[in-house]
Amino acid sequence: MKQTFVTKEQIEKITETYPTPFHIYDEKGIRANAQQINEAFAWNPGYKEYFAVKANCNPFLLKILQEHGFGADCSSMAELLLANELGFRGEDIMFSSNETPAEEFAYAAEIGAIINLDDCTHIEFLEGIVGQLPKTMSCRYNPGGVYAINNDIMDNPGDSKYGMTREQLFDAYAIMKEKGVERFGMHAFLCSNTVTNEYYPMLARTLFELCVEIKDTIGVKMDFINLSGGVGIPYRPDQTANDIKVIGEGVRKAYEEILVPAGMGDVKLYTEMGRFVMGPYGCLVTKAVHEKHTYKEYIGVDACASNLMRPAIYGAYHHITVLGKEDDEPDHKYDVVGSLCENNDKFAIDRMLPRIDKGDYLVIHDTGAHGFAMGYNYNGRLHSAELLLKEDGSVQLIRRAQTIKDYFACFDCFDIIEKLTR
Ligand SMILES: *Cc1c(COP(=O)(O)O)cnc(C)c1O
Repeated sequence: MKQTFVTKEQIEKITETYPTPFHIYDEKGIRANAQQINEAFAWNPGYKEYFAVKANCNPFLLKILQEHGFGADCSSMAELLLANELGFRGEDIMFSSNETPAEEFAYAAEIGAIINLDDCTHIEFLEGIVGQLPKTMSCRYNPGGVYAINNDIMDNPGDSKYGMTREQLFDAYAIMKEKGVERFGMHAFLCSNTVTNEYYPMLARTLFELCVEIKDTIGVKMDFINLSGGVGIPYRPDQTANDIKVIGEGVRKAYEEILVPAGMGDVKLYTEMGRFVMGPYGCLVTKAVHEKHTYKEYIGVDACASNLMRPAIYGAYHHITVLGKEDDEPDHKYDVVGSLCENNDKFAIDRMLPRIDKGDYLVIHDTGAHGFAMGYNYNGRLHSAELLLKEDGSVQLIRRAQTIKDYFACFDCFDIIEKLTR
């Protein structure tokens, strides 16, 4: 059974101050997980996790991760500005972007972030912007084809817009070396949300072998190898969570078998996990406000896909707990739905749950990553607040809810804001 990190009593207390819906995060869980990640890779002295800021850009949460030595993986101007403002410095910032606007490359270079190029044509593009290439440069690899683990197709890199082909990669490193780049990195993100301990070790083998070959053929030795993101979490109750310790050991084995004998025993390992770092430690709390009996049984809640988009766009499963009814029989079949005028605005379809009454609080699990951050304003629905359940049990507002005034702030041509403030 999937546990919530908040109880009904806690939520009843919290909603006296902060009305639903809101995302709430578990500081204790975030810190314990961050520590386990660092321990799992402690065998590699240069190891660093660059948290994927796109997964959750709340500054308070980024500050917590920073205290555990994490860097920031950014892919847009706003994310770069945020990381820099929060005190991530120079090579604590990874810039893994694609279809990158010129001003973002310029700013990334200015603050000394590591630039991870998505394409070989970006060498010239970047040079045209900054003149001399930075001394440290990274390239993103895409091996094409499908990526399978034990015959299970995990993902389809050949269909993905990211990264360079093998040939382009060799050329890119050779060209950059000639242009005076001194430190090199390789990056690849081949599969998303892998719920298996084998993905990172297998990816590591692929990249390690390629890096040895690159050293032997063109004399470019990697300074770091970036396994990027893709380590998954068990959204469904019948899935087994990844064990980061086992993953770390699997990567170590590949490192010792491939890199160490090739004289590359000093290569630093980086990761850019988002989901694994934050996913389970956030949830969306919403209230049942309507029930409807037509051809199906519907429970209408006060959150909608604007607050959590994954079920609507990916058909993703998010577990739901009805607070206070954890031990009740799940003998009712419901569609749990939000208020958007879109029939995909369903947090759950044909889900067996205990009987839900109006006023019940529902916890939608695992929204810590790619949850709030993917929020949007469709239908004029507003972003919710974000709260932090701190280690001492107190609750801190870490982002206020968007207001209707915020929403209208872009319409300079109307006096609607004036009217709203009067
Ligand atoms: C999205 C992304 C990540 C994080 O992915 P998760 O699935 O959250 O681990 C890491 N690196 C890059 C470049 C990404 O685009």
